[in-house]
Amino acid sequence: MSASEQYSRNKLMDFIEYRPLDIEICDVTLRDGEQTPGVVFTKEQKLAIASELDSMGVEVIEAGFPVVSANEKEIVKEIAIQGFNSRICCLSRAVKGDVDAALECDVDIVSIFIAMSDLHLKYKYHRSFEEMLGCAKETIEYATDHGLKVRFAAEDASRTPIDRLKKAFKETENEYKVQYVSLADTIGILNPTTTHYLVSEIYKTINTSICIHCHNDLGMATANTLAAAEAGAKQLHTTVNAIGERAGNASLEEVMVALRVQYGIDRYDTTKLTALSRMVSEYSGITPAVNKAVVGQNAFTHESGIHVAAILEEPRTYELFLPEMVGGRRNLVVGKHTGTKALRGIINSIGLCLEREELCALIEKVKVCTEEKHKSISQEQLERLISQVKQEQLERLISQVKQEQKVTEKREEKFSI
Ligand SMILES: [Zn+2]
Repeated sequence: MSASEQYSRNKLMDFIEYRPLDIEICDVTLRDGEQTPGVVFTKEQKLAIASELDSMGVEVIEAGFPVVSANEKEIVKEIAIQGFNSRICCLSRAVKGDVDAALECDVDIVSIFIAMSDLHLKYKYHRSFEEMLGCAKETIEYATDHGLKVRFAAEDASRTPIDRLKKAFKETENEYKVQYVSLADTIGILNPTTTHYLVSEIYKTINTSICIHCHNDLGMATANTLAAAEAGAKQLHTTVNAIGERAGNASLEEVMVALRVQYGIDRYDTTKLTALSRMVSEYSGITPAVNKAVVGQNAFTHESGIHVAAILEEPRTYELFLPEMVGGRRNLVVGKHTGTKALRGIINSIGLCLEREELCALIEKVKVCTEEKHKSISQEQLERLISQVKQEQLERLISQVKQEQKVTEKREEKFSI
């Protein structure tokens, strides 16, 4: 099967004018993802996740926040020395001590962040914008003087006056060589239109690459991330299974698959997504919702008779992309909505074969069984019902033969008298 047959391309994109995407992914599962309440990854777990992200082609891995603990610093350091193709980044407040910790870890990029919104300045820092920008500049200078690449990140950027962001980014661009500036939608207030506007405004003001970091409080993190990319954002932040503070971040699996289906970006190895999702689910103790896009249990599960019958002929009738593309598996479920054609297909797909009469008997049993239990039936239950039907069919045949024998015997007795 050719790659293009694995999914339907969104051809409506041909009618939309947008800047060709020039993007990279920075996955923040190991940092923002670990800030999910109750989640603590071990060193081995973080290394395993980082290794998978690297092998999929993720360009940047945010490994952690070294000043959080001595152990965290050790882990970031360990990830940084693995020799991954992915560049390794870590978080730092606008404090020189945090940059020292990043230097000890030997990371490629340090993400120095300050918030510049009125709310954060007044209630978190109790300082003015100028004071905070001064702290940021000092820290950026310190980091660049020590040879670190810097991302200057604006926390709560979506609630910061745009002129303030422009001033801060323009000044740091002029005074230091920051590699990136970052816009964080810390509380998930943006929608795709406002994200596009915000990124476009910054894009036309500066020459530095822009990062977008979206949260999912209104369920729009993935959409906002893609809108940012269309407006010129270079670095897209994601987490596996969309874990993260509160409602989480933009989901790696959704962003990666959308990049392929919507924009034709196919350089990432998406076949590892399902296994990585399971890994992070096990390590974090957070199972994605069954209807979670791409990796949820129902992402490739079909029960409706009409859908199953069509899928058996051509999966793309009811699947945007095939499970193989993301390392998943299709699951055809037998339930009260299953029709004869679909049921025959499902039975054939598990290597069994039924006569028409048997199939009709089976479908009756399936309907009774699912209505009694108020749920679909598993493959084992289906196989049990099939043996029941076959057994009953056999008994019916035997009794039919016996009946015919009796009739023949009676007829012979009559003639012999
Ligand atoms: Zn965040």
